[in-house]
Formats: sequence, structure tokens, C-alpha cells
Amino acid sequence: MSSLIGKRIGELKALLQEKQVSAVEIAEAHLDHVKKSDSQTHAFLNLTEELAKEQARAVDQKIARGEEPGPLGGIPLALKDNISVADYPLTCGSKILENFIAPYNATAAEKLFAAGALCLGKATLDEFAMGSSNENTSFPVPRNPWDTDRVPGGSSGGPAVSVASGYSSIGIGSDTGGSIRLPASFCGIVGMKPTYGLVSRFGLTAYASSLDQIGPFARSVEDAAITLSVLLGEDGKDATSLRAPFEKSGEQAPDLKFVRSLKKENAADYLKGLRVGVIADFLSDAISPEIKSQIDKVRKVLGDHGAIVEEVTVPHIKEALPVYYIVATAEASANLARFDGVRYGARTESPADITTLYNQSREAGFGDEVKRRIMLGTYALSSGYYDAYYKKAQQVRRLIKESFDRTFERFDALLSPTSPSTAFKIGEKVDDPLTMYLCDIATLPANLAGIPGLVLPCGISTAEAKPLPVGLQLLAGQLKDAVLIKTAFALEQVLPAQTYESPVLKAAI
Ligand code: GLN
Repeated sequence: MSSLIGKRIGELKALLQEKQVSAVEIAEAHLDHVKKSDSQTHAFLNLTEELAKEQARAVDQKIARGEEPGPLGGIPLALKDNISVADYPLTCGSKILENFIAPYNATAAEKLFAAGALCLGKATLDEFAMGSSNENTSFPVPRNPWDTDRVPGGSSGGPAVSVASGYSSIGIGSDTGGSIRLPASFCGIVGMKPTYGLVSRFGLTAYASSLDQIGPFARSVEDAAITLSVLLGEDGKDATSLRAPFEKSGEQAPDLKFVRSLKKENAADYLKGLRVGVIADFLSDAISPEIKSQIDKVRKVLGDHGAIVEEVTVPHIKEALPVYYIVATAEASANLARFDGVRYGARTESPADITTLYNQSREAGFGDEVKRRIMLGTYALSSGYYDAYYKKAQQVRRLIKESFDRTFERFDALLSPTSPSTAFKIGEKVDDPLTMYLCDIATLPANLAGIPGLVLPCGISTAEAKPLPVGLQLLAGQLKDAVLIKTAFALEQVLPAQTYESPVLKAAI
């Protein structure tokens, strides 16, 4: 039998159903690949080997009994380490939680496990999901499997590296301002941030609660969509989880039935007459020429298939960056207050008094970027500055959302680059937080507006010493997740054929 590495969900499921392979063998083959190769890529912080094997045995038993093992039955999975798995470490990439063991499963994890996924491990991230390159961590910096001198993108670097290296078929990240989409772009895979409120945040360590969304990584749009269909759903444990959103809005639910209706042969028809806006605000000189030329190629392919492609400016979209860094840091400063050495987090012993205990525990436990954000957020919320910063940012956030609402009256989907450049060298931007923040200029607006966004690989750049993938970003209106997936799926079929296999993945196939 050829290698089990790098297979899509459908391929692994077929092998299982035909009894050519067992789920235990799938788990073992992927864990072996991790053990052999992850010393060069550092995708995982902790393996959950026992859990994976137990889940694999349960899948095998179901198949033996003739039962359907679930939409993800036997599919290897990597979870970002800010998503709780009961009885396993939950570090959030931070020293302060180095020894913390999660007491329960996140709803997202629960759903994936019930669908038969095999959880191989907890994947690395920027500390508390704050970052764009995954260099803000007290643990080893993960490496881009296309070029291990480069970053994989952040903050969900680990699950992206896992999927792009073939350690797992799917990965789960969280996206507050681009943390699924940027690493998907840098690693040459698909990543999706769903509409805010579609996936429960229960058990996801909060960074900025009004922006955080859990979503999938995969190597095809179909696999990302299958994973999303499992993650979806109302959850009484998350107050911001949407109640019956599709029934109420009449929009199509991106459920499994919908995913099964996606047909390769219908892709070209679907694109005919589709109205696609290219966000002109993100085609400035700040975007690398390589990325611009890939986006031009995509525009042409869309046009050749009868889509109506027009440039559009989205008013206020450029204000997304300052607005985001006020809203996100303000919420972070409140959310991270619980890590004080008493309620949560490592405690510095023998303090003189309780304030010193808090201060010393936080001083020792948090990294520099997390401290910077807590200070910025506390400042923006402090009396006297609240109106000038936080309130103003919320007002502009509203304007951004309304701009998108108006733009989506004219377009079915919006197209833009994901980031101004391809994956950069480790260390290249660490001393310049502003340039680092600019990596997310094109991804942040979707979080502020609560709309879904998806990144799809669209080409390979040869401008650097080693080939690097380029990802395009598609956006759709609120609850139009099915439209977004359909558009991405169709585009994936008609773009020039290209296999996005990183060297780490290729070596294992
Ligand atoms: N890079 C952005 C930040 O640091 C987004 C992070 C994220 O989406 N979690 O805030």
C-alpha cells in the first residue's frame, strides 16, 4: 500500500470502508510521520497519542459492526493549543499555562471527536493567539514546511504546519484577525473563518471575544467544508453562539448535505454571472508584485468563466487596522485578567502580599507581546480615554460593517490578497511590531464585520530562493458561508492545476 500521508478525507474514508486499512493504522502512520519529521517543523506542543489510538479503536469497532463511523471517522486532526481537550495540557503557547491541564472538552473538540476524528495532538500558536508569525511563543518557533527558515504565519501556525506537512489531514485554528487565513496562505492550504457565532467558542481560551472564531484548515475546499459542517451549531454554553441562524435568515446552511451537493462538473456553470468584487484598497504598492500578479491571474480565470469581475473600494476598510488593535487589545486586557496566579496560571511563590503575587506571576508568566497588548488595552479602556479610543473604535467598527453590507448588495463575493507578502524569514519582523501588524491588513476587516472569509492557494511564487505558496482571500456576507464555500470550490476547480505539496509532505508520500 502506498503511503497514507497526504490523503484527503474522502480517500482515507474509502480505504477504511474497503477495509484496506484500519483507523489504528492511519493514526500510527501519521504519528510516525510526526515523530520523524516534526523536529524540523515544531508543529506540535504536545501529542495526544493515547487519545488518538483510543478514538481510532472506536472507529474500527464501528466499522466492524457495520456502522457509519461519522463524517470524520478515522481522519487525523491537529487542534490549536488554545482549544481544550479534557485531561491534556492547554498551554495557549504561554509559560503562564505551561502546567495547566484542561478540565473539559471544548464544544468544537467534542463535536470533532463525536464525528470520529483522531486527535493527534495540540498544535503550537502565538501566545494567547496574539501574533501573525507564530514567533511570540515561549516554546520552539514552528517552521514553514516549504522553507524551514521561514515563518508559517500566525497565530495558528501549528495546525497549519501540521496540515501542510501531512501530519494530519485537517487542523483547527482560531481566527481573531486572520489567524487561520494568514497561516493557510503562507503554508499553501485552505483555511476558513466562519461567520461569527456559527461555531461555539466554549472551551476556546478567549483572546478578543467579539472577534474570535474557530475554523478549519485542510488541503481542499471540500475537506474544509466537511470539517466546518461538523463544527457548526448552536451551543447553550456560549452566549454568542447563534440560535437557528439559517432557519431565521433563510440562508443555506453549510451542512454536510450542502457539502455533498458540491460537484466538480458544475463549477464552471456556477461561476457564470457570479459577481466578484476585487477589493481595490488592498491592491496598493504595499502588496508584493508577485502576489498582485497571482491575483490578476485569478481575476482573468474568473472573467474567462463568465464571472462579472469589478474593482470596488470598501469605505473605511483601511481603518480596520487601528480599530482592530484598540478593540482586540481592550478585550484581551479584560480576558487575560484571570491569569493572575490565583484563579489561573503559574504562581510566583512567597510574595509579600496579594498585589505582589499578581504582579510577579504575570510578570514571569506572560511574554512581551502579551504584556504590550494588555497595556494598550488597559489604556484604551481607562477613564478619560475610553471615549476617545474604545468608543470611537466601536463606532468605526460599525461603519466598516455597514460598508460591507452595502458592498454585498452588489457582489456575491469579494476577492483580495491575504497578506502583503509571502512567508517571511524567521526574525525578519520581530523587532518591528507595526510592520508585523500590517500583515493582517486584509484579514482583520472580516472579523470586525463578523463575516466569513476563506483562503485558497492560488499559485506558487518563485521570487525567493525556494518556492513559496500564495493564497487568495475570498469574503462573503454574513451567514453566506455556503456561498463562500461554493465560490471557493468552483474557483479551486478552474484555477490552473497545481499540487500544493510542501517538501516535508512530499518526502513522506
Ligand atoms: N495577528 C492578529 C493579532 O495578533 C490576529 C491574531 C488572531 O487572529 N488570533 O491580533
